[in-house]
Amino acid sequence: MAKIIHYRNKCIGCNSCVEQAPSRWSISDEDGKSDLKGSIQKKEVYIAEISVDEIEENKRAAKDCPVSIIKVID
Ligand code: SF4
Repeated sequence: MAKIIHYRNKCIGCNSCVEQAPSRWSISDEDGKSDLKGSIQKKEVYIAEISVDEIEENKRAAKDCPVSIIKVID
């Protein structure tokens, strides 16, 4: 199972990940940072298990994140 790791506290809310993979990302109304849908929090990071067909778009999201806080492990 592949997974995404999001270092959320460093998010600048640019919306790029939402544009690349809207089924996994949204911008929080509360603090303007992105939320990784379906994730669980472990200390400072959020982790979500994803299916194989989600890897590609989330790798694009990781590549385009201007502060490099999305990691996709497959
Ligand atoms: S691309 Fe990176 S900085 Fe931009 S909203 Fe997503 S996680 Fe935050």
